[in-house]
Amino acid sequence: MRQETARAPRLDAALLFPYAESVPTYKTATEADTIELGRRLATDLPARGTVLLIGNLGAGKTTLAKGIVGGRTGAPADDVTSPTFTLIHEYGEGRVYHIDLYRLDEPRQIATLGLDELFERDALVLIEWGERFPELMPRPRTEIHLRAGGGDAREIEVTTV
Ligand code: ADP
Ligand code: MG
Repeated sequence: MRQETARAPRLDAALLFPYAESVPTYKTATEADTIELGRRLATDLPARGTVLLIGNLGAGKTTLAKGIVGGRTGAPADDVTSPTFTLIHEYGEGRVYHIDLYRLDEPRQIATLGLDELFERDALVLIEWGERFPELMPRPRTEIHLRAGGGDAREIEVTTV
């Protein structure tokens, strides 16, 4: 009997394998996988609301944002850059905002950004380092935790709090 060798679709089981039932958890092996995961998550995330991207420097928060922004607005990954210095980037005519609070230390510095007004908008608001200011972050919100494994491996967990 001939043995068929099934060719796995590029992002099937091995790369995007949710192994927990209650908390969707994904594993990616490359930067491109994480961008692709972001594109897929963009479909499931609420149309409007806040998503905290949580993880150490280099964990892949901005990389995942590239995919989420791309999935929502069609923006190419290269057009989605880190807002570390600019603080807020807007995409798709206000459909998505990408914010990085890394350089801010005090809640009163955040007040000048007008986040509350952004949270009221009909938009998806992605925030890096928002967990440093939990009292300023809206609920309910989605939290995506990213952890670096060995080498380029990343574990990415999606929860609602
Ligand atoms: P953060 O915003 O969390 O500081 P970035 O997304 O800016 O992190 O950077 C992640 C870095 O890790 C990039 O240099 C990227 O090329 C690299 N990388 C390696 N493997 C992965 C992966 N599986 N997912 C995301 N980024 C990865
Ligand atoms: Mg970043």
